[in-house]
Parts: sequence; structure tokens; C-alpha cells
Amino acid sequence: MFIVYSDDHRHHFGKYELIDGQFVTPFECPERMDRIMQSIAAVKLGEVVEPQDFGLEPVARVHSPEYINFMRTAHDDWRQAHGNTDAMPICWPNRNLRQIVPQEIDGKLSYYSFDAGTPITAGTWQAITASVNVALTGVDLVQKGHKSVFSACRPPGHHAASDLYGGYCFFNNAAVAAQALLDGGAERIALLDIDYHHGNGSQAIFYDRDDVLYISLHGDPRQEFPYFLGYKEESGREIGEGYNCNFPLPWGTQWPEFKACLDTGLNRIQAYAPDSLVVSLGVDTYEKDPISKFRLKSEHFLEIGDQMKPNKPRSWLNPTYKTQRGPG
Ligand SMILES: [Zn+2]
Repeated sequence: MFIVYSDDHRHHFGKYELIDGQFVTPFECPERMDRIMQSIAAVKLGEVVEPQDFGLEPVARVHSPEYINFMRTAHDDWRQAHGNTDAMPICWPNRNLRQIVPQEIDGKLSYYSFDAGTPITAGTWQAITASVNVALTGVDLVQKGHKSVFSACRPPGHHAASDLYGGYCFFNNAAVAAQALLDGGAERIALLDIDYHHGNGSQAIFYDRDDVLYISLHGDPRQEFPYFLGYKEESGREIGEGYNCNFPLPWGTQWPEFKACLDTGLNRIQAYAPDSLVVSLGVDTYEKDPISKFRLKSEHFLEIGDQMKPNKPRSWLNPTYKTQRGPG
């Protein structure tokens, strides 16, 4: 299996996030990727390749032009106003407030974000464009006939919607990959999200569509970030009705409960017969993750991978089914 990786992720390294009433060094940091790449090397998962540059056109198939432009200029505008610190929002256009794009950068940050855990730094743009190219290079390899590819995307993406960032995510790498597969001729894509947190951005992007089936297993939003999306009754809208499946699970969830939902989700994917499967592979369901509350052990992640294989344990309906994996 090819592993697509870019060192450019290092350009995004926020100094602070607000969590538990304190400003702390963000948990989403370059060291995360170093650990992943060290493990990939240790188990000899496959050859590591650099991403190609696909430009912004595939990004614009998922994100609005205004949002892309905001991302490109956000830190320059912030630096002019406040100096070279991390750009952070200060309020949000919540209920009883109007959805207006303000002129000044502080207001724009607030308009385009939904949390205080996602600083924009001087190198964020370089890192997020590299990360989305990592995902798109995975798509390219799958389109060239490789059965499966691991796209090591950092920053992650599944919390980012068409014009909204948060939860450490700026461009939705998995959504851009799914859309690129469709644009390359696929008819149906399944997007399986097994990160501990609900992929609110991925759900929102494909909520009224039937050409991407979104399946997510995650911490119950009644207890867990991002709180305001990811409930069981959210099943899609209009022609997308029935193509969004959420499996919210309580704090303390262990492997048997997780596996039961995974089986149900994979059966739904099998019935959908996708041309390809994109996996948002967050591994923060691990029992020792510092900000999550599921109880999966290392061996369970091997089991998850085994369950996803197209011919095992299920007989997949579509023989051209291929996989692509990438965090967030
Ligand atoms: Zn997560």
C-alpha cells in the first residue's frame, strides 16, 4: 500500500487552544503525525510517496470561493491587525444574531468558524493545501488501479463544512476526495467516519445528496464535541434522505458496542455498493486518547481494518470496490 505524506503539515502549529478553561498547547500538533509515520515505518506498511499539486479547483468543488479566499488571506489580515500571533475568533453568529460577513478580520474569523480550538497560523494555508493534495494524490492512485491508499492528512478535515472551520479542521480532505472520485467517473462513494468525534462538516456537505453515503460512529453529541450535529435522527434531506447514518455512542463505549454499530454501518455500505470507500480514520477512539472517552484497544483497530476489506467477511456487491483511508 502507498502512504501519501507531506512534511508541509509542520507549517501549521498553533500555540494555543481553549480547553477546560485554559489555554493549552493544541493536542492537534506535528508530533501526532510523527507518531503515525513512525508506526507506519515500524510495521513496514508500504512505500511513502509525496503528494502532487492539484491546485484549488478540486477544493472549490466542496468549499465556497469566499471561504477559500478567506482561508488564503486570513493570517495576513490578522498579522496586519494584531501582529504575528495565532488568529482566533472571539464570538459567533449564533441564534438571534445575523449571518453577515463582517469587514474586519476578527469578525470574519468569527463568521467562518465554530469553535475556539482551531488557531490559524502563518503556515496554516501551506499546510492545509498540502493536506488536501495528500488526499487527492490518494484519489489519483486509486483511480490508477491501486486497491487501497493511506493518505496521511494533517491538518485533519471532517469538521470543516463548505464555509466553516473548527475542530482542528480547515479543508475537508475526505469530502474533497469523495467529490474528486465522483468527478473522475464514480457513481457512488461511501464515506465511513470512525473518528471519535462526529464529522459535522462531512455530514453537512453531503446531507442533501444520494451519491455519497455518510456513515459515522462517534461520541454522543449530547455529551461530546461538536454537540450540535451527529444525532441519530439526522438521516439526510430531500434526495439525500436515507444516505446519512449516525451511530452516537455514550462515553465509555467498548469494543462490543462499537463493533455492533460498525457491522450495521458496513452492511449498509455493502447494500449501497459504492465504487470506492473513503475512510475518515481518526484513532481517538483509543482508550488512552487524552481528549476522548471510548475504550478501544490497539488490537481493535486491526479488527476494524479487517472488517472493511471488500471481500471479508462480506461479499461486496461491487467488484470494483476500492478503499482509500486518511485521517479526518
Ligand atoms: Zn476526533
